[in-house]
Amino acid sequence: MSNQGGNYMQMLINGKSKDSDEKIEVINPFNQEIIDNVPLGSSEDVNNAIDSAYMSKSKLRDFSSRKISEALYNSARDLEKNMEQFARLISMETGKPINAAFDEVKRSIDTLKLSSEESKRIYGESIPLDAGIGGKGFMAFTLKIPLGVVGAITPFNYPLNLAVHKVGPALAAKNAVVLKPSAMAPLSALKMAEIIDSYLPDGAINTVTGRGDIIGDEIVTSEKVDKISFTGSVETGRLISQKAVMKKVTLELGGNDPLIVLKDADMEKAVEGTIRGSYLYTGQVCIAVKRLIVENSIADDFVEMLIKETKKLRIGDPLNPKTDIGPMINENAAIVVERIVSNAVVEGAELLYGGARNGNFFEPTILDHVRSDMKAVQDETFGPISPIIRVDGIDEAIKVANDTKYGLQASIFTENIHNALRAVQNIEAGSVMVNKQSTFRTDNMPFGGFKMSGMGKEGVKYAVEDMTRTKLAILNTR
Ligand code: NAP
Repeated sequence: MSNQGGNYMQMLINGKSKDSDEKIEVINPFNQEIIDNVPLGSSEDVNNAIDSAYMSKSKLRDFSSRKISEALYNSARDLEKNMEQFARLISMETGKPINAAFDEVKRSIDTLKLSSEESKRIYGESIPLDAGIGGKGFMAFTLKIPLGVVGAITPFNYPLNLAVHKVGPALAAKNAVVLKPSAMAPLSALKMAEIIDSYLPDGAINTVTGRGDIIGDEIVTSEKVDKISFTGSVETGRLISQKAVMKKVTLELGGNDPLIVLKDADMEKAVEGTIRGSYLYTGQVCIAVKRLIVENSIADDFVEMLIKETKKLRIGDPLNPKTDIGPMINENAAIVVERIVSNAVVEGAELLYGGARNGNFFEPTILDHVRSDMKAVQDETFGPISPIIRVDGIDEAIKVANDTKYGLQASIFTENIHNALRAVQNIEAGSVMVNKQSTFRTDNMPFGGFKMSGMGKEGVKYAVEDMTRTKLAILNTR
């Protein structure tokens, strides 16, 4: 890996590394050390990247599906060979605990392998035109053809796997890609793109680093880009959907995922799910558990068990495999969470555990007696907090779960099948999990939220479908 001493990772445009005079410092959130400098790309750079993707469309179409599949499989294999370096890189650029960083690399390998497999399964269907008026004597079939150029824009929190979730399916469907990773954590995605590039024609995959409002905006508004696949905040997603005129758009946005605990729940399972769901990568996860909705009659017992388990979490150096809670991405992010917690207390919530900030570290925090109208649970809080809203039963639990503009994933802990099914049917979210917290995700499942949490689905097969267009062929057989 080239970036252990700094100033090595560059953009990739038309198969060549591209530097710039101005740089962005990539800072390790744990110790504030500069781990690398990446180019501050310009409008010219991103337009060159778009042009190069545009030019490589025909080269990619000439590639057989078999060769595309091999390229993606070989990339997965190379990622596997370098698993440890990638995990360390993710941990250093994001502050993510190393075990979670390893999980991310393993999932990225899986996502690439799934993309490799899916590239062999892209086909249309035959259409019985004679079922329509005037269709007798004609034969018709559809072809699934590439869109052309896909613009991929990704956030800081899963810098490798979320990039692979766009790049893998786009290439599987023979589209060229321009990827803009987050300026805060661009390194693992840049490195992954170099690997993939080595197996494909120049320009099939391009990367540009720089400011979102410049580089991202050029990608979103370029007439040469056919689809935008974006993962990030609701604010940016909203801007993109306004500007991406006449393009396909997939938006994977923020979440405010509820975890419901009913009186008949397996309490140990529910507490374990809460710990995993609320504190994974310091709560900086779109599908983190952001609200706990607990039935009154068991709330005191639940809270007691939750405090006991939360006390066991170890805060520290993300590279230490024993660390559960690392730093947040930067101090500003931690200050935002600190304000949200103190405002909730002013509004009447009870701080039961945690609540303290030290630089960009924020303690795992339990707030009880939170009301559904408080800011702490109305907006997405991207931090390690467990706000508890007490309710009287399933009806109120579902009402509270839906009392948000978000709808990414949701979970319910209950041993009562009727209540479980009511939750599945009535909670407005892309996925509802029974007896498992919302951070659960496999890379082949259809993934994507309702309401302000987004538009469209990822999960390799579903993303590939959205990376193609349908062409119809009609043959006159008379
Ligand atoms: P963000 O601030 O929205 O940034 C995401 C990406 O968009 C970055 O690459 C950013 O560039 C770029 N960007 C910024 N302004 C832009 C513009 N005007 N036009 C085009 N692109 C622009 O999000 P974040 O803080 O990195 O990530 C956290 C958010 O992502 C949370 O809300 C989280 O819930 C959400 N998320 C959702 C999912 C999901 O699958 N639903 C998964 C993970 C995260 P720069 O930052 O480099 O300038």
